[in-house]
Amino acid sequence: MIIVLKPKIAKRDELAVLKEIRKLGYRPHIMRGVERTVIGAIGDERTHQSLETLVSWPQIESVTPIQKRFKLVSREAHPANSTVKVRGEVIGGKRFHVMAGPCSVESEKQLLTTAHAVAEAGATILRGGAFKPRTSPYEFQGLGEKGLKLLDKARRETGLPVITELLSEQHAELVAEYADILQIGTRNAQNFQLLIAAAKTGKPVLLKRGLSMKIEEWLLAGEYVLANENCNLMFCERGIRTFETYTRNTLDLSTIPIIKNESHLPIVVDPSQGAGRADLIAAMCKGAVAMGADALLIEVHPNPAEAWSDGAQQLSIDKFKQLTRELKPFIAAAGRE
Ligand code: PEP
Ligand code: MN
Repeated sequence: MIIVLKPKIAKRDELAVLKEIRKLGYRPHIMRGVERTVIGAIGDERTHQSLETLVSWPQIESVTPIQKRFKLVSREAHPANSTVKVRGEVIGGKRFHVMAGPCSVESEKQLLTTAHAVAEAGATILRGGAFKPRTSPYEFQGLGEKGLKLLDKARRETGLPVITELLSEQHAELVAEYADILQIGTRNAQNFQLLIAAAKTGKPVLLKRGLSMKIEEWLLAGEYVLANENCNLMFCERGIRTFETYTRNTLDLSTIPIIKNESHLPIVVDPSQGAGRADLIAAMCKGAVAMGADALLIEVHPNPAEAWSDGAQQLSIDKFKQLTRELKPFIAAAGRE
């Protein structure tokens, strides 16, 4: 911690700070400037009381951590890019990935039609929600286990690995039995017990950014997965809540280079929840590819007008096919395959 003292404080007030730092188990290093004194306090905050509370002392101006609060997810801890391996697919490497499928699994016909179509168009992973986190309890909540079984069937028919959302700790084992990647949704991004349960299944985890989550909080949420012995984590930008109403959320593409700088883990972009509008998806996908995203997560439905959830933002199969064609030069220009 770097502790900056207020200017012109009495010697005894400075000594009181040094005494408290030592009492809490840290070693103080004093740096005296012309105007003010700065103290560097060295010690491990995991085993000692935090020094942050010192900020309330009248003689102290500021208390700032020296190290970042996230460690295992940070690029400092692991300078090379990490990849996540899913049934032979490698996310975060040279190959660019498109995860596509319906917002919700609705029926066998709807899922299988979509799964075959997205596979043919070049998607490498199938998405589909079986447990749906709906804002209203009166909206479709997902098919649950029946939906997972349909995803399993679609995987067997198409060979595409499956990503699906885990909503509750009590379903961790069940969902992990069927899913190749566990999606932690925006509403649960800081549900730490759920993150721990997801990590403990050993399955790769895709962590969406919380609706109003700062990037540091998101990285710290990811830290829960790695700290529970699961290093197969991907971050997923899906838009945050702002004052803007033209779009459902504000897709924050600045998180792509920021996550790449701060972390060694892959970054995925979900423009479907980000925009909430099918007409904006293609442009946002191109932007995300150009900015260095490792994968996209896109909602596709055989008949978006009749979708049981998120109809306005799902691409029709034709639009998705057109999009994958249009993305090719962007993927190549970004140095990906
Ligand atoms: C989804 O992917 O359908 C979903 C509900 O995502 P989010 O958690 O980002 O809203
Ligand atoms: Mn959705």
